Amino acid sequence: MSAAELAGKIKSREVSAVEVTTAHLDRIAAVDERVHAFLHVDRDGALQAAERVDRGEVTGPLAGVPVAIKDVITTKGVPTTAGSKILEGWKPPYDATIVERLRDAGTVMIGKTNMDEFAMGSSTEYSAYGATKNPWDLERIPGGSGGGSAAAVAAYEAPLAIGTDTGGSIRQPGAVTGTVGAKPTYGGTSRYGLIAFSSSLDTPGPVTRTVEDAALLHSVIAGHDVRDSTSIPQPVPDVVGAARLGASGDLTGVKLGLVKEFAGDGSEPGVLAAFRDSLDKLVKLGAEVVEVSCPHFEYALPAYYLIAPSEASSNLARFDGVRYGLRVGDDGNRSLEEVMSLTREAGFGPEVKRRIILGTYALSSGYYDAYYGQAQKVRTLITRDFQSAFERVDVLVSPTTPFVAFPFGSRTSDPYQMYLADLFTIPTNLYGGPGISVPCGLADGLPVGFQVMAPTMADDRMYRVAAALESVVGTLTPPAL
Ligand code: GLN
Repeated sequence: MSAAELAGKIKSREVSAVEVTTAHLDRIAAVDERVHAFLHVDRDGALQAAERVDRGEVTGPLAGVPVAIKDVITTKGVPTTAGSKILEGWKPPYDATIVERLRDAGTVMIGKTNMDEFAMGSSTEYSAYGATKNPWDLERIPGGSGGGSAAAVAAYEAPLAIGTDTGGSIRQPGAVTGTVGAKPTYGGTSRYGLIAFSSSLDTPGPVTRTVEDAALLHSVIAGHDVRDSTSIPQPVPDVVGAARLGASGDLTGVKLGLVKEFAGDGSEPGVLAAFRDSLDKLVKLGAEVVEVSCPHFEYALPAYYLIAPSEASSNLARFDGVRYGLRVGDDGNRSLEEVMSLTREAGFGPEVKRRIILGTYALSSGYYDAYYGQAQKVRTLITRDFQSAFERVDVLVSPTTPFVAFPFGSRTSDPYQMYLADLFTIPTNLYGGPGISVPCGLADGLPVGFQVMAPTMADDRMYRVAAALESVVGTLTPPAL
């Protein structure tokens, strides 16, 4: 059942929230040894939250429905590691704003999901706690960095999950697991309590099995937050209404911009075939396809790999062995600097170290203008590409990711091969607009994602188009585990 259906049955008391929660805890117990979507399951906390719903103490459109949270988001008293050894054992003293909103809405926080360390990666292979497996094929990656959230939803361990998207970490895992992943407008969902990777890009958002569920979850977590200075003080677009409108299957008058630079080479043939077939389906629903050129999109990946590591090198300076989690070598004979060095050496994995080094270099005196400054200029040009495209079309469309789920180990030896997974998702992050990945078919038996990108604060548009596509493609269910 979808989250919306579950919520309806809980509300009408056909099933209790405790029954729904127990069913999901049982499912986790049955399959998560193989999938490894969770780093922590909060059994007691979940059952208590469900009991409150059954006693009628909390109501709301998703009351009683379990939700899994990516482990980069703080949950009061519940371990939060960001997939890193440096935070092992840390229990945050506060809830992130979106977690607070989820609790207030009566959703049941069931556990914390696995991820690439500090959200750096596209496969979960960089998690310090071992990779998550793709429920479609346990030998393949579930995407990343939010592979745990996507796999939990795909494997029916949770009907809802929260991810974070800095360069594609909600949408790419959605694409390769056959789930729906939505990145809201930057500033549309609060970053308060989200452990920072790249503060000008990080955006929390929904991971679900249906577009309507994503819209419902979006509407619960979104909206202005005074504790996040980049949060947008405007009403949340009517994403639920837009998803329901789209589900009626009518796209008359909607203009889809086909990004010329992303429609050709670079994607696997099966991905392109599923994408083109979906585009035809949308045309049959009344949409018009207009080819648009976004000439600077080809520089998005290099610009991102200067901006994101630069911000990360600054943000990750706080993990120094003094404030949180791990401390190594504090034997009374070593200097503070030595303890900090030993802690960071032991606590960070190789990809995180690579990013810190890259970012520190890009920000260093003498190189700042040539690298970081230049990347910021490219970011502006990419934003202008989006703005001029949106003068002609309502949304932009592309495949979500160039390739289907790849086998473990096949892209870890060359970082650039891993970075290519986000070729089509990164421009949206640099611009700050919303983007969604919706399942659009299979290639070689594995899910393919269709991406819809919209102007900032027009998140409703992408939900309408995604729901229309879902109404003709249907949802995808992985082979039984
Ligand atoms: N895969 C990209 C990276 O490694 C994006 C990650 C993300 O969105 N958190 O940086």
